[in-house]
Amino acid sequence: MGLDVEWALRWVRLAAKEVHEQREELSRLDAAIGDGDHGDNLDRGLSAAVASMEETQPSTPGAVLAGVAAVLVRTVGGASGPLLGTALVRGARQLEAEGAVSLSSQQAAALLRTMADAVALRGHAGSGDKTMLDAWLPAAQAAAQAAESGMSPADVLARAAAAARSGAQETLPMRARRGRASYLGERSRGHLDPGACSAALLLEAAAQAARG
Ligand code: ADP
Ligand code: MG
Repeated sequence: MGLDVEWALRWVRLAAKEVHEQREELSRLDAAIGDGDHGDNLDRGLSAAVASMEETQPSTPGAVLAGVAAVLVRTVGGASGPLLGTALVRGARQLEAEGAVSLSSQQAAALLRTMADAVALRGHAGSGDKTMLDAWLPAAQAAAQAAESGMSPADVLARAAAAARSGAQETLPMRARRGRASYLGERSRGHLDPGACSAALLLEAAAQAARG
C-alpha cells in the first residue's frame, strides 16, 4: 500500500481516534509535569482537523498535511499546537514542492526529518530536553536508516514509530529543559513527557495507516 492521499487521510483519522481514546492518559501525564491539558488540546485539534478534511477533500498527501496544520495552529493552543502545526506546514510544503502523489521510502524519511527539524528550530530544543523531540528525532533517524537499507515506505514508518515509542519511554528519567515542565527542575524526573507520548501515538497511526 503506497503512502498516497488515502494513506494521509487514514493517518489523520486514526491519529484522531487514538488521541481521543488516550486523551485522559495524555492529560494525566501533563498534569504531573505541566498543566494537564495536553490530551484535551490534541483531541480538540485532531477532531477539528478530521471535520475540516471531510469538508475540503484534499487530493494529495501534502494538501492533507497542510489542512491539518492550519486547523491545529488555530485550535490546539499550548506549546504543542504551534510546534506540531509548524512541523506539518514544513512537511506539507516539502511534499507539495516535490509534487508527491505517493511517497517513496526516501520521501517518507525526508518528511519525518523535516518535521523533526521544524520542531527543534521552533522550540529551540534538542535531544534529551524531555520534549516531543525525544520521540521525533529518533523517529527521523530510524526512518533514514530504514530507507537507506531498502525498506518499503510502510516499513520505514513502522521503524520510525517504534523508535518514537522507545524515545518517549526514555523521557521518564530526564529532567525537562524546555516548556512548562522545565519549571519543575529536578521534580520533572520520573514522569513521561506527554508530548513525546503523543508524538509516538501520531507516528504509530501513520504506520498503521500504511498497513491498510
Ligand atoms: P502547554 O505546555 O502549553 O500546556 P501542551 O500541554 O499542549 O502545551 O504540550 C506540552 C508538550 O509540548 C510537552 O510535553 C513537550 O513535549 C512539548 N513542548 C513544550 N515546549 C517545547 C519546546 N520548546 N520544544 C519542543 N517541544 C516542546
Ligand atoms: Mg499542557
